[in-house]
Amino acid sequence: MDDDFYALLEVNRNATEDEIKRAYRRLARELHPDTNPDPQAEERFKKITLAYETLRDPERRRRYDMFGPEALRGAGARAGAGGPGDPFAGFATGGLGDLFDAFFGGSSPFGAGAGAGGRRGRAGPPPGEDGEVLLDLEFTEAVFGADKELTVRLAATCSTCNGSGARPGTTPTTCSACAGTGEIRRVRQSILGQMVTSGPCSRCGGTGEEIASPCPDCRGEGRRLDERSFVVEVPAGVDDGATLRLTGRGHSGPRGGPPGDLYVHLRVRPHPEFTRAGADLHHEMHVAMTQAALGIAVPLTTLDGEEEITLHAGTQTGHVIRLRGRGVPHVQGRGRGDLIIAVVVDVPTELNKTQEDLLRQLATVRGEPVAPEESGLISKIRGAFK
Ligand SMILES: [Zn+2]
Ligand SMILES: [Zn+2]
Repeated sequence: MDDDFYALLEVNRNATEDEIKRAYRRLARELHPDTNPDPQAEERFKKITLAYETLRDPERRRRYDMFGPEALRGAGARAGAGGPGDPFAGFATGGLGDLFDAFFGGSSPFGAGAGAGGRRGRAGPPPGEDGEVLLDLEFTEAVFGADKELTVRLAATCSTCNGSGARPGTTPTTCSACAGTGEIRRVRQSILGQMVTSGPCSRCGGTGEEIASPCPDCRGEGRRLDERSFVVEVPAGVDDGATLRLTGRGHSGPRGGPPGDLYVHLRVRPHPEFTRAGADLHHEMHVAMTQAALGIAVPLTTLDGEEEITLHAGTQTGHVIRLRGRGVPHVQGRGRGDLIIAVVVDVPTELNKTQEDLLRQLATVRGEPVAPEESGLISKIRGAFK
């Protein structure tokens, strides 16, 4: 096996970086699988690419000159990821996209399918769509987190054909239009020479396979709408309007394609006593005028249980009591927000005769002038309009 990178690139050992680059470019155009259907050419293409990747980097080239292809292993060279043995192992399409980006300034002359790392592979069914669902939570479930059962209706892999789309007993055949690659290529001339552009094959929808006899249960889709139930772990501290993303829980792809994601939109029911502002909880505490004036210990049911809130004699409306750490847990990070209690002093409105007399006595003792007692008639009229 010709492991000599210089021989592969048809340059001598003293070749300059520029000579190596030009040699690779010439060979790559000749051997790339998109322009050369010969499988041996593809093998050679992978090898010259690895050779080029190694020799264009001065440090890697120095190591290669000293130790040979062994130097590539475990030295951070991505081409060596294939494990021991063959230095070419595992060096398939991954990584070539970067290389072409560096080489040709962003666009691969071999078309979008030429091993672009993150994008879809050359053949294979497209992924499923993302799903969306609404999940109602009680206030405390959002605050403390909860395991909620979720039932969704999503496309799931057809159990009759196991996602192949073919009638049981039959198998899909290689697509005749794209020869199983899932893409149709068009060749055109450009300043770089032959350019190949590609797009998904319309005959097979990019799957690379044709189905002569479709599965009767999914009509060849390889998936069917199905009701699924599973438990969602809602993290503590989520708020109304937040969305959880469940990776791989969306619709199954057609003909065995990978599933999409499921987006769970959260709707939180309001609480009668508490409102949320981020991680803080707010509560309005109403007390009677006499309680505020004389002081009182008020029992309050917080989200953590019973709590006694002490109001000192002379507490005013607007007085704020902050209970640290009794709010909502931070979704990301540690700790909890606060529970903020704002006091509202209620002035009594419907006084009976005894109460009014007592208040008037108090006003007199305190030397506080007040409006004179209303005549019986006026207060009767006022009462009629209430
Ligand atoms: Zn089926
Ligand atoms: Zn096709």
